[in-house]
Amino acid sequence: MTTQTLDATAREAVTSACARVEEPGAGDHVDGVVPGLVARPADTDQVAEVLRAATAHGLTVVPRGGGTKLSWGVAPRSADVLLDVSALDQVLDHAAGDLIVAAQAGCRLADLQERVAQGGQRLAIDETVPGTTVGGMLAANTSGPRRTAVGAARDLLIGITMVRADGVVAKAGGRVVKNVAGYDLGKLLIGSAGTLGVITDATFRLHPVPAASQWVTAPVSDPAAALAMTQAVLHAQVVPAAVEVAWAEGSGSVSVLLEGRVAGVAGRADATRAILGEGATGSDDAPAGGATYPWDTRASGEDRSTALKLTFELSALGEVLAATAGTPAVLRGSAGSGVLYAALPPTTDPAEVATLLERLRRVCTSRGGAAVVVDAPAAVKAAVDAWGPVPALELMRRVKDQFDPDHRLSPGRFVGGL
Ligand SMILES: Cc1cc2nc3c(=O)[nH]c(=O)nc-3n(C[C@H](O)[C@H](O)[C@H](O)COP(=O)(O)OP(=O)(O)OC[C@H]3O[C@@H](n4cnc5c(N)ncnc54)[C@H](O)[C@@H]3O)c2cc1C
Repeated sequence: MTTQTLDATAREAVTSACARVEEPGAGDHVDGVVPGLVARPADTDQVAEVLRAATAHGLTVVPRGGGTKLSWGVAPRSADVLLDVSALDQVLDHAAGDLIVAAQAGCRLADLQERVAQGGQRLAIDETVPGTTVGGMLAANTSGPRRTAVGAARDLLIGITMVRADGVVAKAGGRVVKNVAGYDLGKLLIGSAGTLGVITDATFRLHPVPAASQWVTAPVSDPAAALAMTQAVLHAQVVPAAVEVAWAEGSGSVSVLLEGRVAGVAGRADATRAILGEGATGSDDAPAGGATYPWDTRASGEDRSTALKLTFELSALGEVLAATAGTPAVLRGSAGSGVLYAALPPTTDPAEVATLLERLRRVCTSRGGAAVVVDAPAAVKAAVDAWGPVPALELMRRVKDQFDPDHRLSPGRFVGGL
């Protein structure tokens, strides 16, 4: 653990900028970096006030939503203020007739889903880590099974409010679905890991909750067969909402989610069973693990698994699975979107992690994607390059310099030390 200290004038400035400012408690750290203060603003204006105070006193700031993914990425070089947005927890507007919802950044995704479900609707983004907030989900660009049918956050976000490092509030998009003005700001903030600005609210396009859903699952015992099954499903007329793969020690399963009208789902489930072969079975329930990642997201410190995100062209699935042969890697994810997550036990030797990561990176980068270390014990983070080759690094650096010229926000958390 490293601890930040703030001088008295800076402490006073942050304290008077915000309704609640506290000393850090036991859980208030960012991957081992303990902040000098924890600020809990009550609204966007207070977020702006805190950031203005930080700018005036040269303080670094790390935003926090639910705190479920605070150890992801690289630990910050410094975190004078932990800016906790959990008090910004309201669903602002559910315009059911327009299939739109607006919520504050600290609103839990589960609460948002509960609210829109009252109108028979849903935000088609899976809660991959229990307790996820709207802001954290966007900043970490998490995605789950349903991404295959409707896309990821970037496809569903239509408006966003953020506060820049200097305290200026910026808005993009809004309630009108076809409004493309400012869509790029949303795209920049998605996956930015708190390095470009503090998200304070977001507006999303919703979908109706389907009348019926059905999972069809088949066992699979070699990478080529897993690829053949998923390709056959994707090229058939069954219109899957999700195509998931689970894999460990050389075997696993392919699971297909069908959603829609009752009669249509029944017919498409039959067709999917026929495609997946004799071992295929149907179920109303999601496969074990559901939309969650193949590691324990509650674990911390040295008890964390090494967690990897693997992206690749859909046709590379077999190669990615084959690359994990002979390792204790457990994989789960969306064969239908080219995104898999892999976990290695916390005790895995950093050298073993490095070898597997290099092998996976070679496959993924040659097939249009990347292999990124999402989270890992400190010894592993120190031993490997979490991001790997970054083709657009210079562009990212220019964007960072424009949004946050003093590198005040989450310094060092992102690629290339940004
Ligand atoms: C419906 C659907 C259909 C698809 N069809 C195809 C297809 O036909 N062919 C195909 O090839 N793929 C396809 N894909 C796969 C998809 O394009 C890739 O998997 C994509 O790279 C996933 O990226 P992401 O959005 O999860 O994260 P990204 O947007 O790649 O990354 C999230 C954030 O982390 C950063 N980041 C991530 N990795 C790195 C890294 N290594 N270095 C630096 N920064 C990084 C980014 O800058 C970003 O801010 C499809 C996906 C979907 C959802």
